[in-house]
This record gives sequence, structure tokens and C-alpha cells, in this order.
Amino acid sequence: MNPDRIQIAVFDGLPIDPHLMDWLKMFRHVEMVSRFKGKDAAPHLAMWRNRVCKWFLEKTELDALLFLEHSKLPMPSTFGVIASDWDVCGCVYTYDDATHCHPEDGLLGTGCLRMSRLALEAMEKPWFDYILTPDGCNVDLCSCGWFCKRATEAGFPPKTVGRIGRTGTAVFWPSDEGKTRMQRYEDFRTDNRSPK
Ligand SMILES: [Zn+2]
Repeated sequence: MNPDRIQIAVFDGLPIDPHLMDWLKMFRHVEMVSRFKGKDAAPHLAMWRNRVCKWFLEKTELDALLFLEHSKLPMPSTFGVIASDWDVCGCVYTYDDATHCHPEDGLLGTGCLRMSRLALEAMEKPWFDYILTPDGCNVDLCSCGWFCKRATEAGFPPKTVGRIGRTGTAVFWPSDEGKTRMQRYEDFRTDNRSPK
């Protein structure tokens, strides 16, 4: 897809990594979306995401919306999420414990998720929500699971099209083999290069 037709929404509740900031300079349409978070919605990520989807449909005329979280570190394979013509696509990344986010269940994480206008318009709302277990202590269906289910029902099954790193307590780079390479943040900053 033409990068100029993509609206990038950066979820900047925390400071954005400088590596991500540099990568974003390549794109024309980048919005920091902390202004949509709202004090009332602070613990409710799904609400924040829904507000950004609504804003995208009503206030822009672009073809796709790409969610990126402040902690994500693009690598060469991340360009898949720009280049792909698939309606709902995204990149694999890891959680803070270095395990892959949704490795084999075919779901995409919301940390790097691209949605076409067509898909967002066709989907039943809310686009994002989650379901807790009956005791309310765990998540039964996460926000990404909710979204992917709705998208599939609307005829837009999600597809993984690349990988993206992340910072947390360390830097995590997912590989195609489902393994994760960990790196000290200081080493990455000295080198400032992602692995292939
Ligand atoms: Zn999830």
C-alpha cells in the first residue's frame, strides 16, 4: 500500500523510543494519540483505541490506520505492515517476558496493527473491547482477540506480515522461528541497529 495513504497512530501514553521516532520521519501522516486517551479512560485501552478508529473514519480520508505503541522498535521486516495490501495485517512482537504475542492462534496484537477503512466500516462496533473471566480476575478474550474475531466475521481475516521489536526491561527482537533475541537497552542504543 502507498505509505502516503496510511494514517499512523502512535499510542504515546509513555515516552516514545528515539529509534521509533526516527522511523516515523519517513511517513506523512503520523499522529500522537495521547489526546484521545482522556482521564476517564486511563485504564481502559479499548476505549482509547475505539476513539482513534472513530476519529480516523470521521476526520481523515486515508485508506488505512496503523496502530503503533510507544515501545515498538521497527526492524527491516516491519515494512511488511506498510507494503501489504491485506486489509487487516500486523507484525509479531513480544511481551516483556520475551514470549511472542499471539504466536500460533492467528491473532494479531494491537501494538502494531494495520486496519483498512473498508474493514473498519464493515465491522460491527465496538471495534475493541475485552471479556473478563467470570470472577473478573483474568482476561478471557483480550482486546486483540475481540478485534480479530470481529474483523474475521466481517470478512477481513487478519494476517501476520512482519515482525517488530520492543523495549521494556530490555530490547526484544522476535524471529521467524518463534524465538526471541534479547539485548541490553544500552547495547542497542550504542549500536542503534535492529537485527534482520
Ligand atoms: Zn491479545
